[in-house]
Amino acid sequence: MNSFLITPIEYLKGIGPQKAELLKKELGIFSFGDLLEFYPFRYVDRSKFQKIDELNSQIGHVQIKGEIIGFIESVMGRGKRLTAKFKDDTGIIDLVWFKGASWIKNSLKINVEVQIYGKPNFFKGGWSIPHPEISKVHVNPQGGFQPVYSSTERLTKAGLDSKGIVKVMAPLIEQLTGQIEELIPLELKNEHRLMSREEAIMSIHQPKSELEARNAGLRLKFEELFFLQLELLFRKKITLQKSLGYKFEIVGDQFNTFYDKHIPFSLTGAQKRVLKEIRKDFTTGHHMNRLLQGDVGSGKTLVALLSILLAIGNGFQTALIAPTEILSIQHFESIKEMLTEMNISIELLTGSTKKKDRKVLHERLLNGDVDLLIGTHALLEDIVQFKNLGFVVIDEQHRFGVAQRARMWKKNTIPPHVLIMTATPIPRTLAMTFYGDLDVSVIDEMPPGRKSIITMHKYEESRLRMFGFIKEEIDKGRQVYIVFPLIMESETLDFNNLIDGFEAITRSFPAPRHHVSMVHGKMKPADKEFEMNRFVKGETQIMVATTVIEVGVNVPNASVMVIESAERFGLSQLHQLRGRVGRGSEQSFCILMTGEKISKDSLKRMQTMVRTNDGFEISEVDLQLRGPGDLMGTQQSGLMDLKIADLAKDGALVAIARDAAKELIKSDPTVEKKENKGVRSVLSEMLRSKPNWGRIA
Ligand code: ADP
Ligand code: MG
Repeated sequence: MNSFLITPIEYLKGIGPQKAELLKKELGIFSFGDLLEFYPFRYVDRSKFQKIDELNSQIGHVQIKGEIIGFIESVMGRGKRLTAKFKDDTGIIDLVWFKGASWIKNSLKINVEVQIYGKPNFFKGGWSIPHPEISKVHVNPQGGFQPVYSSTERLTKAGLDSKGIVKVMAPLIEQLTGQIEELIPLELKNEHRLMSREEAIMSIHQPKSELEARNAGLRLKFEELFFLQLELLFRKKITLQKSLGYKFEIVGDQFNTFYDKHIPFSLTGAQKRVLKEIRKDFTTGHHMNRLLQGDVGSGKTLVALLSILLAIGNGFQTALIAPTEILSIQHFESIKEMLTEMNISIELLTGSTKKKDRKVLHERLLNGDVDLLIGTHALLEDIVQFKNLGFVVIDEQHRFGVAQRARMWKKNTIPPHVLIMTATPIPRTLAMTFYGDLDVSVIDEMPPGRKSIITMHKYEESRLRMFGFIKEEIDKGRQVYIVFPLIMESETLDFNNLIDGFEAITRSFPAPRHHVSMVHGKMKPADKEFEMNRFVKGETQIMVATTVIEVGVNVPNASVMVIESAERFGLSQLHQLRGRVGRGSEQSFCILMTGEKISKDSLKRMQTMVRTNDGFEISEVDLQLRGPGDLMGTQQSGLMDLKIADLAKDGALVAIARDAAKELIKSDPTVEKKENKGVRSVLSEMLRSKPNWGRIA
């Protein structure tokens, strides 16, 4: 970096030691360069005026020309409130101050034309603007288009509100010509018609028009995403070069026999494609680290099983890890059944495996007598050692922490290949970024013959009709889930709701005709399993549960999923829950019950669920509603340090930047060409400053 940009911020005109201190503390701005990277978060067009009769709730900030025609002072609690009646040629609104009433009143004149700026609220039948800016009507010399910066209370007090920041930015921009190095190769810049870096930094702070601001933003976002993708691709390359993996040279008898004789149905195109991708990874001699995304019910397990058979056929042991005991048992039983005719030794290990059995199992694993071990976290314990573990499948990845996954690596001298399966699709742009150093496979096709689930959103008033509907379905021989929110298993209130709900349901669906199961997180695993099994076997028709059933369980005869207080669930959770039905050949239904008054976001979630069954589409909406930070969890928040790009909004740009990054690596693998000098300097800085950032799984 050149010396101008690293000049300490206190050397800037208008910034004394006190302001400098605040900028450091409040915004982390230490140098000229830091201030230049403090971008405006939006712009206002101060050359335009709105009319009072045009105000509407979508409008945001407005600027209106008019005059104050009178004041009303009122007492409010301990303070005074000042209201000014403000009129233009189309109507009258209130300007309101909750602080400094007398002082403000004295500074304002009646019947003098002024311009006001602020955000109108609609309240009790009229519009009002709290704490507006008021100034003489004037034409802005800089043109009307102005940046708006975020500020803090302390900065505002010191005169560095948005306007104050505009003021200190000006002398900095004035000195900028010739100080900003270009970082993106010329060819790339031309190809995407990007502004120069210098022009972009000047324009983002002082745009002459909306278009210029947008183009400057685009250039800087592209740059940010381009370097992020380059970094990810390089890390992936480095990891791959370092990581030795087992070579599975042959297809093997196990795979062939199963595929020819026992496979219960023919694979979908997507399953075949993914299987090919995995098979290819197995033969490279590098360690496989692959994420398999596919909607609930898309048939990930079968792909996993076939991959497991490939590994076994090459003489290796394998493991399948599920997040809950119920799920491990279900995997264990269904896989055992599919492989009955084959000579493969499969074992189960969970938290409830008896000590005595465990000991035997540990020995058999070490002797190489077990081909496939299925289980829960219990499998990760250090005491569980294999003779020759070659491949690990992790089901439902979002329940597993990064550290837990890393423990699998230590189970053999060369780390076993890893396949992580998730039914919570991540929007493509996010996957590219968060799993940039992981390979991603997608099953985007459902097995044939599935009817798509019909989803309805109902309010409390329809409860009786909902019960009636359930009855009809049960009379047809179907089974029903009713799920209650129990987000923290300790929340007593939720627990009471669940118990009340259970009682209401048993009253409406009495024995001997009906039987109701209940499963929740406070039960002992053995009791849970007992209840779950009654439902799986069809002994009970209704399963009242908390989200413990969220992942994985397979009861094809269940055709109705009722979700109580659905507004309290996130989109991906709702989608997961819905995936419990629609597994058989019958038409299935999902009923979302909510209170009458739900927030706008909640309503959007319900509408999205009603509209689509596509997990990827749902994940996109989820991303818009919650933002990437919430969606991915805080553990990866380091990646959130984007200064200008927004993973939720700039998806298309992420893809373009990634392609550009790939292209660069292809044409200049070691980034040595002269034209890539800028890239090289940024990249080496990035790789140096975050050394431990590499491996995700
Ligand atoms: P996922 O784990 O992706 O949610 P599963 O692997 O549990 O989905 O598969 C869902 C259901 O679809 C299972 O009952 C499975 O037997 C069935 N299935 C899987 N692949 C196929 C296929 N190619 N054709 C028909 N049914 C399939
Ligand atoms: Mg599954």
